[in-house]
Amino acid sequence: MPSDVKEAGSRRSAAPWLVPEAVYLHVPFCAHRCCYCDFATVAGQDYLADRYLTALEKEVSTLQEPRPARTIFIGGGTPTHLTHAQLERLLNIVRRWFVLLPGYEWTVEANPGTLNAAKVDLLADHGVNRISLGAQTFHIPLLHFLERNHGPEQTRDAVGLVRRRIANISLDLIFAIPGQELSAWKEDLRAALALEPEHLSTYGLTYEKGTPLWKDRQRGRVRPVDEEVEQAMYEAAMDLLAEAGFEHYEVSNFCRPGRECRHNMVYWANHAYWGFGLGAAGYVGGVRGANTRDLFAYLRLVEAGQSPRQAEECLEPLERACETAMLQIRRGIGIDRQTFAEQTDYELDVLLGDPIRRHTEAGLLSDTETTVRLTRAGKLLADLVASSFLEPIASSSVGNRPNHGRPSRITTESP
Ligand code: SF4
Repeated sequence: MPSDVKEAGSRRSAAPWLVPEAVYLHVPFCAHRCCYCDFATVAGQDYLADRYLTALEKEVSTLQEPRPARTIFIGGGTPTHLTHAQLERLLNIVRRWFVLLPGYEWTVEANPGTLNAAKVDLLADHGVNRISLGAQTFHIPLLHFLERNHGPEQTRDAVGLVRRRIANISLDLIFAIPGQELSAWKEDLRAALALEPEHLSTYGLTYEKGTPLWKDRQRGRVRPVDEEVEQAMYEAAMDLLAEAGFEHYEVSNFCRPGRECRHNMVYWANHAYWGFGLGAAGYVGGVRGANTRDLFAYLRLVEAGQSPRQAEECLEPLERACETAMLQIRRGIGIDRQTFAEQTDYELDVLLGDPIRRHTEAGLLSDTETTVRLTRAGKLLADLVASSFLEPIASSSVGNRPNHGRPSRITTESP
């Protein structure tokens, strides 16, 4: 732990759903844009990185004074694509504007092939204590399909480099890649486990509108993996990772006991967080906002002393309660009735009694007196269950209000 980590005053004085102690910083630069990516990223514009870091610090400085932080997440893009000197600038921005609280978690996303021993030392010396590596798959043809510019050996080397200094490592894996068979996915899971990570994120490949991958599917050049195979892959992950001692603590995330990504748990609790940088979302004092995803617009706005927020919305209590349920049901711990009432001022059963009863009868939810959780069958249909928790909004006048550009997706780790 760095010597200036705050020693006292670590107890919260305000509700965590209103006052943030979680920070997201976005670094949009990548060496190359992968075919499936719809994150706020740019490739071939590294000459803008120093200007971007200046703008990022200017945006962060709107906080006016250093703030306590329990979790920090630097995502992208590929933060470790920055040069050594730029990475140092970025880490110093965090140290200048945030006071790390005892037991803090500070994650940086990295791609294999962008790390060397000096960069890992730099990260560790500044207090970074968690690395999330975009491994995706250990099969070379599938890495080529995804247009990833690293091989499986680079993933293994990166884990070795990080392990020397940083003890908490997460790997991202993608399944349901066209051409991937169930057996190949199981090999990927075993290859990942052999690297002994503390945490694994597993995402089914999605076809985001406008990406080259989506266009190829539209033109019939790419055939998605059959739904049954995709489901079998997800179940294989649940089984193999449980056997290896991992806890399934969120629909797409698994960890060794006690190694949950605490930053992402803030999102799934629907607690408050700051977001800075291109396309970053924030949720502060009940107001949800997202920055522009246009790099030049971001630079121009911040340099002119204006807010880069593209959209901002103060959620109605009903919307906030429904969204809280929708996010919390994704967690292994599910929704705790008492905490939910404290956080939202709504009784869970008054608000969502109908869908909870329906899904419990269908075997998708398990309902004890205190808690509602997804069952194994429910995890396979998590999006369906979660979206049904928005029914009260649709049937109220709130549901008729236009969507003022609320961010459709929460930024989580998955470079
Ligand atoms: S998938 Fe990751 S590495 Fe590829 S372009 Fe997107 S952010 Fe960059």
